[in-house]
Amino acid sequence: MAECIFCRIIAGEIPATAVYEDAEIFAFRDINPAAPTHILVIPRRHIGTLNDTGEEDRALLGRLLEAARVIARDQGLVAGGYRVVMNVGEGAGQSVFHAHLHVLGGRPLAWPPG
Ligand code: 5GP
Ligand code: ZN
Repeated sequence: MAECIFCRIIAGEIPATAVYEDAEIFAFRDINPAAPTHILVIPRRHIGTLNDTGEEDRALLGRLLEAARVIARDQGLVAGGYRVVMNVGEGAGQSVFHAHLHVLGGRPLAWPPG
């Protein structure tokens, strides 16, 4: 059994509410939403953080952003605006070390974030 909680979600060992999936990407609702809509977009392949990616991951990184755009549209976030965030490292608030994008929307989003 994988130790990574997001790998376990992809494997179906931990339930999650999926909102998008394709051959390389899985997206589901955050268990502790920070906004009315809060989706996590993850690669199916385990990658710890953005720091662990390289040239060979260019296409995958692009697809993650593309998925975020499609999800934002499908979730009705475009008119009100939305945020796509990747926390990289503990100091930036990363708590699950399987790289992921947060897609947040449905309320006004202040800048800068905390
Ligand atoms: P990070 O802090 O690493 O940027 O984001 C991790 C996110 O994963 C957090 O927003 C947290 O609420 C979410 N999360 C942690 N465990 C689970 C889980 O088991 N299921 C779901 N759906 N989200 C989770
Ligand atoms: Zn993982």
